[in-house]
Amino acid sequence: MNGYFDHNATTPLHPAAREAWLRANERHWHNPSSLYRDAGIASQQLEAARERLGALLGIEAERIVFTSGATESNNALMSSFERAAISSVEHPSVRMAARDAVIIPVNADGIVEPDAVKSLIGSQRPALISVQAANNESGALQPWREIAALCREQGVPFHADAAQWIGKLDAANLGECDFITGSAHKFGGPKGCGFLVLPAEDSRLHFLRGGPQESGRRAGTENFPAVEAMVTALETITPRLGQIEIEQSRHRDAFIAALRARLENLRVISGAAPRLWNTVLMVMPAHPNLKWLTALSRRGFSISTGSACSSGREGSSVVVTALGASADELKRVVRVSGGWTTGAEDWRELAAAFAEVFEELNRR
Ligand code: PMP
Repeated sequence: MNGYFDHNATTPLHPAAREAWLRANERHWHNPSSLYRDAGIASQQLEAARERLGALLGIEAERIVFTSGATESNNALMSSFERAAISSVEHPSVRMAARDAVIIPVNADGIVEPDAVKSLIGSQRPALISVQAANNESGALQPWREIAALCREQGVPFHADAAQWIGKLDAANLGECDFITGSAHKFGGPKGCGFLVLPAEDSRLHFLRGGPQESGRRAGTENFPAVEAMVTALETITPRLGQIEIEQSRHRDAFIAALRARLENLRVISGAAPRLWNTVLMVMPAHPNLKWLTALSRRGFSISTGSACSSGREGSSVVVTALGASADELKRVVRVSGGWTTGAEDWRELAAAFAEVFEELNRR
């Protein structure tokens, strides 16, 4: 049994990424900025990885800056804009780094409506619009392509935090956004590696000062092995994503149906909205989420309460808060998130374990 249902927090390293990481560390561990031949090869390999990632995202490689992950990318971007408009369900790394932000509300399904963005541009003229591609807690898919088109029409730069989209759905159209955030460990790459895509002509963004690496935007010796592993993971999985989506959505929906049959008054957040094939965010009918989590953990299942970024604090789900839930409901939020290799049987066993735990908690 594969009881790991917390893929939105992090994923295991993909075997192809592991191979790529080891190979890069064995052959191309040299500093890409040094001047001898081996360093030149490392530098060429790094630029080749940038080209390969550019091809997967539908952008020119020059637009990519490699970073330590989505948190760094979001912080660098948001702190360089005064008065951005962000959705009410953005990840804390966007929300907390944004200065003097205007909040774009979501509808009852947790979705940002393009009309709300349009009227906000009309009334406030923000310097940047930031709306995530897919939500980390509920898996809700935002209409980012529509919003990107609208922002282009209105001449306002658009950022999509795509940390949860990339590696789950096809990324080829993301290049339509001016700024894109990605994180390797959400799609089988190593932790501590990610990127920010920016417009080719952007001159304002500086991540870290020091050496001239990453076109002078982000100083520090490049982590080529991590970049190589990240790009290899995405290249390996991308051709299979269409099939994975079809199969996994079925498993997810069967899981929800099985749970509904056994637990009354289960509320699935953004249940009517288009969602990631792997994610289910729920308000349980009774009992605090940590009780559910602990009892399921004892049975070999790893799930979470809202998002990992707020773990340890019951009832801190950004999405459920934005949807206006009561304090009591917030304490009952749990999230399950499967992965590429999670099987139908794993989802069935998880549903059965939820039912068992419900009886156990009711008896106590
Ligand atoms: N944005 C979103 C939507 C995320 O889900 C996460 C990870 N929880 C982050 C940003 C932060 O990613 P990282 O761990 O790479 O800093």
